Amino acid sequence: AKARGRGALCFFAEEMTTAARERLELESRLRQALAQEQLQLHYQPQADIATGRIIGAEALLRWNDPQEGAISPARFIPVAESSGLIGPLGEWVLRQVCQQGQRWLDAGLPAITLAVNVSPRQFQLTDLVASTRTALAETGFPASQLELEITESALAERFEEVLKVLEGLQGLGLHLAVDDFGTGYSSLAHLKRFPIDVLKIDQSFIRDIPHHCDDMAISAAIIAMGHSMALKVLAEGVETQEQLAFLVERGCDSYQGYLLSRPLPAADFALLLQKQALA
Ligand code: C2E
Ligand code: CA
Ligand code: CA
Ligand code: CA
Repeated sequence: AKARGRGALCFFAEEMTTAARERLELESRLRQALAQEQLQLHYQPQADIATGRIIGAEALLRWNDPQEGAISPARFIPVAESSGLIGPLGEWVLRQVCQQGQRWLDAGLPAITLAVNVSPRQFQLTDLVASTRTALAETGFPASQLELEITESALAERFEEVLKVLEGLQGLGLHLAVDDFGTGYSSLAHLKRFPIDVLKIDQSFIRDIPHHCDDMAISAAIIAMGHSMALKVLAEGVETQEQLAFLVERGCDSYQGYLLSRPLPAADFALLLQKQALA
């Protein structure tokens, strides 16, 4: 048994090194991709539920590696977080989005909200308030059209620190959304004290509507709770008409998901927005 135990340990250690090596390798390629502008942002439209009109978009990172092809953010964001690369990467995303948003305004497209994902690590590693202020000032993009998405789990820890950053961000005049709401165990007492504007119902609660009664009850409860706290509620991952109908009936404010559109390259999103403006 002892020998087997040692063998297992060796195997485990070897596996660890492989994983660590792979992570290191991915990290160095990501660093390169960032430097060589191989990263792109796609924009997923968000629509007002009552009117069906596009009122915003979420910026989502895309990495097309010359050899490997598309690498999912679900794979490289954790690597960026553990290596600290999320600092410069996050700043790059913020600046790109503000720059793009201002270009669209200059081109005469209607004013919409652009939402940017913020990793909890960016709170710790960088001065988020300062870098956001800089991105807005240097691009001229109006703060009122910028929304930062912070996952609910990021709000569950270090309350006073997080509160200070959120208040600083709110002071800039932008909007704050809680991403993946319903999965992060944040306390309602804390939530009430954060200066947030929007709750994004996590897509895991939307996915099985109308087949899972529990998920319908949870989604309805989040909408009611959000409204009672004077927040807007957005549902993400909406893929079917039935899901949309349910959300309409429950008075959800806005939605995004494949039913409306997949995340689009910037140029395609601009065309969509233009078409809507002319309609
Ligand atoms: P998220 O913020 O929860 O983003 C929503 C994810 O759901 C996106 O995956 C989006 O493409 C996908 N999605 C949208 N509509 C539907 C739908 O109707 N059905 C289904 N099944 N999925 C849908 P994506 O683009 O692969 O991004 C994954 C995660 O990576 C994001 O989850 C976010 O946590 C992270 N991420 C992406 N871009 C950034 C970024 O710029 N910064 C940071 N920190 N994280 C990012
Ligand atoms: Ca998000
Ligand atoms: Ca989400
Ligand atoms: Ca997510």
